[in-house]
Amino acid sequence: MTAHIFPKLEIPQTIAAGPGPGNTDARVLAAYAGAGLADHMHGDVLRGMTECKEMLRQVWGTDNTYTFGVAGTGWSGLDAMMAAVMPGDTVVAFANGTFSGIDALTLRIKAATREELAANSLDPQPASVTVIEVPHGTSVTGEMVEKALAEHKPKWAFMAHWETGSGRVNDVQGFSDACVKHGAMGLVDAVSSLGVGNFRIDDYPGVHAWASCPQKGICCLPVTYAPVSFTDAYIDTLRANGAYTFVHNPIFEARHWGIVDGKDVDKGTYHRTHSAYAVAAFHEALRITLEHTIPQRAEDYAFHERALREAVTAMGCEVTSNMPSLVVLNLPGALAGREMELVQNCRAQNFGIWPTLSAPVQVRIGILNLLNMAAIHDIVNRFADAMRDLGAEVDQAAVDAVLDAHYGAAMAAE
Ligand SMILES: *Cc1c(COP(=O)(O)O)cnc(C)c1O
Repeated sequence: MTAHIFPKLEIPQTIAAGPGPGNTDARVLAAYAGAGLADHMHGDVLRGMTECKEMLRQVWGTDNTYTFGVAGTGWSGLDAMMAAVMPGDTVVAFANGTFSGIDALTLRIKAATREELAANSLDPQPASVTVIEVPHGTSVTGEMVEKALAEHKPKWAFMAHWETGSGRVNDVQGFSDACVKHGAMGLVDAVSSLGVGNFRIDDYPGVHAWASCPQKGICCLPVTYAPVSFTDAYIDTLRANGAYTFVHNPIFEARHWGIVDGKDVDKGTYHRTHSAYAVAAFHEALRITLEHTIPQRAEDYAFHERALREAVTAMGCEVTSNMPSLVVLNLPGALAGREMELVQNCRAQNFGIWPTLSAPVQVRIGILNLLNMAAIHDIVNRFADAMRDLGAEVDQAAVDAVLDAHYGAAMAAE
């Protein structure tokens, strides 16, 4: 038999103008490609990991010792974050879009008894888990959380900080307050808010575990490290009850980052093989984030998102999101029903915008690491052209006027 070898894989450059992954910073790519061949117990790799851990505590705004990266993507960090949820545990989860919906599924899988899991292994419905379905396009409010926790008094409560599926910011203050009041341990999916929003997790004492991803606000590469952080109370619960995993048990995982028995130690000890490339890339991404500063980043995202929002509104679209890194919109009436066609046309030109992944079908345009006027102009013009290609009338003068007013005012203020 002759081997069939495919031609060398070439992947083009695209504009990542979706909900994530974002546009990886050139400095991160250089750090990744520039790392030498070194194993996971090499002194500089281990030092890089402990430095990442310390920088990550600053990025998250926390004194939590158990703060580190889980190898993989957002779901890897979230899986580790939910590791302490055991069969039969009571949980209340709030779902207002694709991602919090999958988080709720993960919790249903973890909290199901063997019988409940076997009854419907891919979509179990355990009696101990209550999922509060919040309509697409709306936010989870503090009142909703307060009401549900008062009624169910669960051991665990879950919410996404920012639900990327529908582009909604949820009320993390109200969530934390209700968790404290009702004695629930809060778990938060902060995949799309870390590195974009201005918040410190230590300001939310009701939340005991947080998980994010490498490739959204942190601008690192996917499948490097998903940032996580746990309070000592979470770790105590985990230690008391265990978890049905070795690799995603936060206590075991933390050892390689130099966290042993609740304390920082000089050097990590083996947990699994880590990549010098991934460590170098993550380290550089965290340096970039801290150089920019979290408050400045948050301000820049809010500023540029407003420009994009106003420009697509001037094109006749209706924006239903309130997330600073992402605009989720309905096309004008004449194009309704043609969202997928428009998104596919854009993607065919390496302009990577997205549809929603669950109903209703909407268009999502993101600005991760595209925080400059030229990038926003480019996105706006490409999107306007895509609408025209489907026969829409776009008033270019009105769109230009919006952008000029936005950026002109900003430039005049400088
Ligand atoms: C992107 C995202 C995820 C999934 O992250 P992956 O990196 O694709 O594993 C989960 N939750 C939220 C809120 C997200 O935005």
